[in-house]
Amino acid sequence: MTAAKDPWLLTPGPLTTSAATKEAMLHDWGSRDAQFIETNARVLRRLLDIANAADTHVCVPLQGSGTFTVEAALGTLIPPRDANKDAKALVLINGAYGKRMAQILDYAGRDHDVLETPEDTPPNLNDLEAALKSDSAITHVVAVYCETTAGILNPIEDIARITAENQRRLIIDAMSAFGALPFDASAIPFDGMMASSNKCLEGVPGMGFAILRRAALEQCQGNAHALSLDLYDQWRAMEKNGQWRFTPPTHVINAFDAALDQFDAEGGAAGRHARYAANCKILVDGMRGLGFETLLADEVQAPIIVTFKMPADPKFDFQAFYDALGSRGYVIYPGKLTVAPSFRIGCIGQLGESEMKGALEAIAEVMEEMGVESGAP
Ligand SMILES: *Cc1c(COP(=O)(O)O)cnc(C)c1O
Repeated sequence: MTAAKDPWLLTPGPLTTSAATKEAMLHDWGSRDAQFIETNARVLRRLLDIANAADTHVCVPLQGSGTFTVEAALGTLIPPRDANKDAKALVLINGAYGKRMAQILDYAGRDHDVLETPEDTPPNLNDLEAALKSDSAITHVVAVYCETTAGILNPIEDIARITAENQRRLIIDAMSAFGALPFDASAIPFDGMMASSNKCLEGVPGMGFAILRRAALEQCQGNAHALSLDLYDQWRAMEKNGQWRFTPPTHVINAFDAALDQFDAEGGAAGRHARYAANCKILVDGMRGLGFETLLADEVQAPIIVTFKMPADPKFDFQAFYDALGSRGYVIYPGKLTVAPSFRIGCIGQLGESEMKGALEAIAEVMEEMGVESGAP
């Protein structure tokens, strides 16, 4: 039996990975095996180097999808209400991932306020500054770099500057940005940054990691609300013997190491950004040619995932569109917006010019089959 060809995943994750990354998983490793311990340490070092953070920060990995690491980092860095440590977070929200962080803080009983803008609008920097000036109880600002809900690029350097100027600490969900958008610890002061194996770094899903300012993490013993999510404990244990506290995702880590080789060969974040930006341009130009409109203005569109407004033509049926593209080998993604009916097409993962053009051809064919002349909303 020959396996059917895998579909191209034009989604925000899981993503299409290379053959070399998948092949790196065709072994078994013991968690105490010296070779595995070395690979694990190498992956963590490489992640710190990508953030230019090796002198100031440590990298702490965690099993699970990205949200597990977000939950762990928030719970480890922000002490609970009753801890006599006086912590309060201000969460900048313009999409589902910012909302999720506020929900995580609710679950964990961490004091917080939110500053919300619509999904197509970056946070208002004057409002951020005013909130920090007027509420001295705020200790942490929590922000999303690329808000994957709409695909919007938030001004993380400005947010970091305002947070630092006002002597507050910054925690960044950089899940869908790290590895493709610029991220340099010398330009972005932060206590915590969370990302995962499976977005712009093109590993397989299964682990996240947090890059944490060492001096801040040293103060975090006893903060975490769950043993398995305690990044302070995970860090201390790994410092001691190089091992994970609980069964490590051995295959994911080896695949990640291989994916990072390819990341280096592509020219690091700059090279990856160039490919994703080219993918995004092909996609947006092609879709506009078919009459579709993007939700976002080009100035705030990150080259990660693009939201298109739903076409107005009553003959356009999203589920039929989705299924017909899927049967041609292209998986897209429903919208997650409250501001407008929409769908999304991703630019990240092991995709290039031929896959983006192939997707556009398939979209044009499916529209013709449906009798939809234009994608105009
Ligand atoms: C993908 C993503 C996450 C994590 O999502 P999981 O489904 O838990 O991997 C968190 N934040 C952002 C901005 C993301 O894009």
